[in-house]
Amino acid sequence: MKILIRNPRLIATMDDAGHRYEGGAVLIDNGKIAAVYHNGNQQPKIHADLEIDATDMLLTPGLINTHHHFYQTLTRNLPGGQNKQLFDWLIYHYEIWRELDEECIAVSTTTALAELLLSGCTLSSDHHYVFPQRCAPDLIDRQIESAQALGVRFQPTRGSMSLGQSCGGLPPDDLVQDEDTILADSRRLIERYHDAGSGAMTRIVLAPCSPFSVTAEAMRRTAELARETGVRLHTHVAETMDEEAFCLDTFGKRPVDLMGSLGWLGDDVWFAHTVHLSDDDIGHMAETATGMSHCPSSNMRLGSGIAPIRELLDAGAPVSLAVDGSASNDGNHLLAEARQMLLLSRLRKPENWLGADEVLRVATRGGAQVMGRPELGSIESGKAADLVLWDLRTLDLAGAQSDPVAALLFSGSAPRAHTVLVDGNVRVQAGYIINFHERAHAANHNIVAENMLTRAAARLGDDFIRGAQPPEVS
Ligand SMILES: [Zn+2]
Repeated sequence: MKILIRNPRLIATMDDAGHRYEGGAVLIDNGKIAAVYHNGNQQPKIHADLEIDATDMLLTPGLINTHHHFYQTLTRNLPGGQNKQLFDWLIYHYEIWRELDEECIAVSTTTALAELLLSGCTLSSDHHYVFPQRCAPDLIDRQIESAQALGVRFQPTRGSMSLGQSCGGLPPDDLVQDEDTILADSRRLIERYHDAGSGAMTRIVLAPCSPFSVTAEAMRRTAELARETGVRLHTHVAETMDEEAFCLDTFGKRPVDLMGSLGWLGDDVWFAHTVHLSDDDIGHMAETATGMSHCPSSNMRLGSGIAPIRELLDAGAPVSLAVDGSASNDGNHLLAEARQMLLLSRLRKPENWLGADEVLRVATRGGAQVMGRPELGSIESGKAADLVLWDLRTLDLAGAQSDPVAALLFSGSAPRAHTVLVDGNVRVQAGYIINFHERAHAANHNIVAENMLTRAAARLGDDFIRGAQPPEVS
């Protein structure tokens, strides 16, 4: 099928040279970008099966989200979790997440991916690491089904926790799994779903949760399995000072050094957060091309700190953007997250500030690099057709037309994407997802979330949910 996108106001290609074209057109053939025309108002004479009139719109590559916890859309801004830092926040939420089941995972995945899609995101990862022992183990399968139904490109990570409270870890014992179970399910998912080919819609990643919820042995064995099967590795690293203290106390190493000693530095690895890095840490990440996911809203929400993005970029380390889980953001708007990234950098010294074009590059090309997807992230002939049209005629962009790319970040109050194509298929049209009833889904999501909280309250009490009672360790 051929699709022609005609006459956008501007094409922000995000190619190596950062070309921007006024007017022109983009031809899509069989899911790929077949040609980028930059001849202004002179339109190519081509017959296409579908023509999209992009007059007064900005055309960008699809945005890429590299870190998330979709299930947390069921526990957004819970009263007891609103004002806590990471470790206390986790201890509170673990008790509620013990109620997760397959329905919770399917519904929350659809919610998060739908919100992401409407914000211009065409490829997302998710880090699912909570596998309650009483619940069916095939939660990632439910996620993949939800992503396929929405038509979003998806790189789920098979997360894991193996270090329960009784062994010195943070999570309750019934939320952790033994290493053999984790590795067997990881292998099953890779064999069943992982598509290593260019343009893949589904790829599996392996992702033990963090140094304080996984044993060193599980980290090491997971890395071996990833290298054997050719999949990427992901985990949380250097998010808070509490984590740094835990790593120094337990292993005698700072978090990045610990990961290096476990075989976890390399161009097939990316870390979430990396807020607290030394100059040496930054050097090691750059030398080994180890990537990172910047999660500015979550870092602010939990008071974790500001990641040294300027230093990582200048050193040449791969940097990407992510919304993080919805209990610490608490939204899934990736363009709004790009705005947060821009603004948060301005709280640092002026030499560390980031520009709009630079932030959009991180949100597109940076994500593609970190996720191992050279065929994504820019508008160039031969690349996959993951594209977004942004309507420049809206009220919130009035007066911001001198630089449409900057307008999205400086002036935009989190606008919806007008049109989104994933793999050459139109998934969002005029600001709505095709074949998806938003309000009906939201109503169902609210019922599932409420039922989950009711189950948790029956075990823990209403005071616990409201945060009026300190968490009991069980
Ligand atoms: Zn996270």
